[in-house]
Amino acid sequence: MIIVMERTATRQQIDAIVSRIQALGLAAHLSEGEERTIIGVVGSPLPPTLDSEFEIHAGVQQVVRITKKYKLTGWDFHPHKTTIAVRDVVIGGDQITVMAGPCSVESEEQTVSTARAAKAAGAHILRGGAYKPRTSPYEFRGLGRRGLEILATAREETGMPIITEVMTPSDIDEVGEFTDIFQIGARNSQNYLLLEEVGKAGKPVMLKRGLSMLMEEWLLAAEYVMAQGNPDVILCERGIRTFESATRNTLDVSAVPVIRGMSHLPIIVDPSHAAGKRALVPALALAGIAAGADGLMIETHPSPDHALSDGAQSLTFAQFAELMPRVAAVAAAVGRSFSAAETSAVV
Ligand code: PEP
Ligand code: MN
Repeated sequence: MIIVMERTATRQQIDAIVSRIQALGLAAHLSEGEERTIIGVVGSPLPPTLDSEFEIHAGVQQVVRITKKYKLTGWDFHPHKTTIAVRDVVIGGDQITVMAGPCSVESEEQTVSTARAAKAAGAHILRGGAYKPRTSPYEFRGLGRRGLEILATAREETGMPIITEVMTPSDIDEVGEFTDIFQIGARNSQNYLLLEEVGKAGKPVMLKRGLSMLMEEWLLAAEYVMAQGNPDVILCERGIRTFESATRNTLDVSAVPVIRGMSHLPIIVDPSHAAGKRALVPALALAGIAAGADGLMIETHPSPDHALSDGAQSLTFAQFAELMPRVAAVAAAVGRSFSAAETSAVV
């Protein structure tokens, strides 16, 4: 960390900062120029709030942090991209990974038929909510354990790994009995106790971006999971809340290259929750892949107009199947590839 002092800083102000640095067990290196003094702070760990502490200190003009607050998610100590193997599927490698399925698990028939259709079109992982975070408590909130059992049946029938949301620490054991990947939803993305507990559960975690989350905050949330010894975190951009009301949320396509620059973790794009309208989903999905995403999460349903949640943004099976070759074409254009999952299970 570098502390740039004001030209008018007094000796006393400089000494006060140096003493504070030393009191923290860190070393202060002074560079006393003709115009101003610059203090280098060396040692580790640097307390995470040290920059804000010094910024308001008398005589300080600017504080520049050299090392990042996010250690485990950043490139500094992990200079290669993370890949995560989930059964036969690898997330974060050269291949684009597609997660698809209904917003909510509604019945065995609905979920298994969706899994078969999604797989036949090229999807690798089945998504579906059993415990649903709903904006209104009066909406359908999922089938709970029965929903998890149905997902497991769909996995048996298709060979597709499954991803489903866990909303609270007390559900982690139960959800973990069934799921291959834990999903942390946008609304829970800064529920730090949940993040820590799910980090101990020994399975990959997909962390959605919160509705108003800065990218650094998102990585710091991922740090909570990783700090528990779990390196397998996937980030998912699903749209953020802006002033715009033509879409449900605003897909922040820039998150893909920006996060790629900040972190070695895989990042996937969820165009469904960003768009809120099925007509917009294909364009946003392709934009995500063009921007360099490692994969997509897309909602699809046998009869979207009758879905118990998020029907307006769910693709029909035909729309989903039409989109996949276009994903493959865009992937190829940006040096990635997309191919259907290879499993021996009967589709
Ligand atoms: C979902 O995936 O169905 C969901 C509720 O997503 P989000 O947390 O992004 O709103
Ligand atoms: Mn949904």
